[in-house]
Amino acid sequence: MDNMMPDAAGRDDAAQEKTELTGMTEAELTEWVKAQGMPAFRGKQIFQWIHRGADFEEMTNLPASLRESLSGLAVAQPVSIRLHQVSRLDGTVKFLFRLMDENCVEGVLMRYHYGYSLCISTQVGCRMGCKFCASTLDGCVRNLTAGEMLGEILAANRFLRERGEEERVSHVVLMGSGEPLDNYENVIRFFRLLREENGLRLSLRNVSLSTCGLVPRMRQLAEENLPVTLCVSLHAPNDEVRRQTMPIANRYSMEEILDACRYYVEKTGRRVIFEYALVDGVNSAPAQARELAGRLRGLQCHVNLIPLNEVRERKLRGVREDTVRRFLDTLTRERISATRRREMGDDIDGACGQLRRKTLAAETGQTGKPASSGSGQEA
Ligand code: SAH
Repeated sequence: MDNMMPDAAGRDDAAQEKTELTGMTEAELTEWVKAQGMPAFRGKQIFQWIHRGADFEEMTNLPASLRESLSGLAVAQPVSIRLHQVSRLDGTVKFLFRLMDENCVEGVLMRYHYGYSLCISTQVGCRMGCKFCASTLDGCVRNLTAGEMLGEILAANRFLRERGEEERVSHVVLMGSGEPLDNYENVIRFFRLLREENGLRLSLRNVSLSTCGLVPRMRQLAEENLPVTLCVSLHAPNDEVRRQTMPIANRYSMEEILDACRYYVEKTGRRVIFEYALVDGVNSAPAQARELAGRLRGLQCHVNLIPLNEVRERKLRGVREDTVRRFLDTLTRERISATRRREMGDDIDGACGQLRRKTLAAETGQTGKPASSGSGQEA
């Protein structure tokens, strides 16, 4: 796959000329600092501030004049929170993040017993075209930079801090809008940033990446030898059914995907997670559960069943609870490890791309109801 993306319309030229420091490693930032004529130790200081979520004006151990000149030259926090919605059901927070060029992406902050997990976006939109997904309706606008992916976490951490919480994001899932393996180089750089000594020091064991199945990139990821959990959006027991909802299935067969998964397990020792959204009349029959079990047998894996989150613009329908239960029971009887994914933030447009679409539509007058009504809050 090539990586050519159409450029975003309406960029802020001034912001675009500034250097984004967020995507730099400490070593790179130190080089940049030196090139600006500053002493090298400023590199470490600025790096630490950035990863704590601070903007230049908050970098109190830098002289005021330096903070000001840096603000004119560079960007420390490329992501801000445009609005957020808090679920009344479970406290899940849905963010609409604003990027420097005014593009928006979504993120979801979930509280688990092991800590805060943030679901981040990797592209503005998506070009994979899955028929059940809202993120892909208008195609892909552009890739996110590594700094922007990190910036999503930093923005969520600032949110937690402002709410008076001690805890910060400890787990990250690349499961928001976009196909992470279609933005491969930036994602790998982002992983590197997470591990930086003076940065978040987030273990990649706490990171999951979800793909619709870009086989060559899955194999490449396996070779990076990172302890990242690989999740694969399967959503079907065979190629014929998969092709009904996922255009990528015309490019790679399920057998190729499963081979790449076996390779991933072999290389990393980590089991693969399969995501399976149950769609009425498409992939949810008990015979299909048995077929799926047959295909997955012998592979170190776990199946996550997701009741389809219905998207207004799409015709596909979800299934009743008893259908989920029956599908799950069939897999379990066939000795395939499976669970029904806990649905979080069901009342706040938790599914991919829905909040962004609603907000954009409200702005362009396509619907009368702004997304910031209800439980939403402009930041
Ligand atoms: N492009 C990646 C990651 C983003 S989507 C991928 O395809 O995996 C994250 C997950 O949400 C995927 O499993 C995707 O198939 C699923 N998803 C998208 N829209 C959905 C919907 N309306 N209901 C349930 N799951 C959905």
